[in-house]
Amino acid sequence: MANVADTKLYDILGVPPGASDNELKKAYRKLAKEYHPDKNPNAGDKFKEISFAYEVLSNPEKRELYDRYGEQGLREGSGSSGMDDIFSHIFGGGLFNFMGGQSRSRNGRRRGEDMVHPLKVSLEDLYNGKTTKLQLSKNVLCSACNGQGGKAGSVQKCNACRGRGVRIMIRQLAPGMVQQMQSVCSDCNGEGEVINEKDRCKKCEGKKVIKEVKILEVHVDKGMKHGQRITFSGEADQAPGVEPGDIVLLLQEKENEMFQRDVNDLHMTHKIGLVEALCGFQFTFKHLDGRQIVVKYPPGKVIEPGCVRVVRGEGMPQYRNPFEKGDLYIKFDVQFPENNWISPEKLSELEDLLPARPEFPNVIGDAEEVDLQEFDTTRGSGGGQRREAYNDSSDEESSHHGPGVQCAHQ
Ligand SMILES: [Zn+2]
Ligand SMILES: [Zn+2]
Repeated sequence: MANVADTKLYDILGVPPGASDNELKKAYRKLAKEYHPDKNPNAGDKFKEISFAYEVLSNPEKRELYDRYGEQGLREGSGSSGMDDIFSHIFGGGLFNFMGGQSRSRNGRRRGEDMVHPLKVSLEDLYNGKTTKLQLSKNVLCSACNGQGGKAGSVQKCNACRGRGVRIMIRQLAPGMVQQMQSVCSDCNGEGEVINEKDRCKKCEGKKVIKEVKILEVHVDKGMKHGQRITFSGEADQAPGVEPGDIVLLLQEKENEMFQRDVNDLHMTHKIGLVEALCGFQFTFKHLDGRQIVVKYPPGKVIEPGCVRVVRGEGMPQYRNPFEKGDLYIKFDVQFPENNWISPEKLSELEDLLPARPEFPNVIGDAEEVDLQEFDTTRGSGGGQRREAYNDSSDEESSHHGPGVQCAHQ
């Protein structure tokens, strides 16, 4: 609770805190004229501040709350969630928040929340484009009562909370110490207004809105991307006095078995044998639009294991420019033959055909011949374990192991 008197709203109108109603009105009229959006379109926020300050200070109840409890008193006393952004604008939270927030529309009406739904799409759909129908249930204003909840004139301000939707109780705990408690008004359930049971609209039971099933036709365009949004303006839940928010579909690209996408490019892996890697090849695959694609690589050109080749223009279509496409990158996984796949005699024949091996290096002085063995790659090198074993015995005679072990350990 504010201990220091909060005078911001008076400052906005340029009057002292003790100003009379007449002084307030004069100041407001003068400033409102000066900053009216029609005359001064760049001062939109200033005009809102002035209007808000006058709205509070010209209301004896609100002015008293503000004088006694400052900003906090107003916040808790207002009972209107739509006030939040003007509050944070004037009392902190910054201009940026106010401008960036979506909760208020251009015409100043409160704006409802956007409804965001994920929409899963396959890579094929994003390649070819797709139109799909989406069924959803949303609140619309009741047509029988025009969103009034009852007959004309039957809606009345709740007496218990004077239309604020909340009740504030101020208890004096000790001289100079008060406790303020706020609770949702039980007479109107926080709505701030009540409708006599007999006047209530039969169709919506006074709720002002009814559920309706809505079918949206969604166009997924060629080249759209994961995370892209498709927006249906003003199609979200309707509520009285509120401009409906948007329905936003958030595209979720499903994984594809064959292709990985990188913006407009596609990547795939293809397995070939050693003979194909050395002697050329031809293979086919089915593209995302169902076309059969033939890939040829001429004899004489070599594919090294793990290398990547590109097919220009066979990637994803560009969004809004679908005749332009990205590229397709193919990574080659070269399958080598099994052990002993050929007899030793044939092998020496093969060796004669292959590029010559490097000369056998001269071994000078002492040398130790070692075995090259296969091992289970899934179990890793096991080096860590062996190093531990060395460490255990290192107490006995550390110099024995030599620098190699030391290096491995570091
Ligand atoms: Zn109704
Ligand atoms: Zn009430």
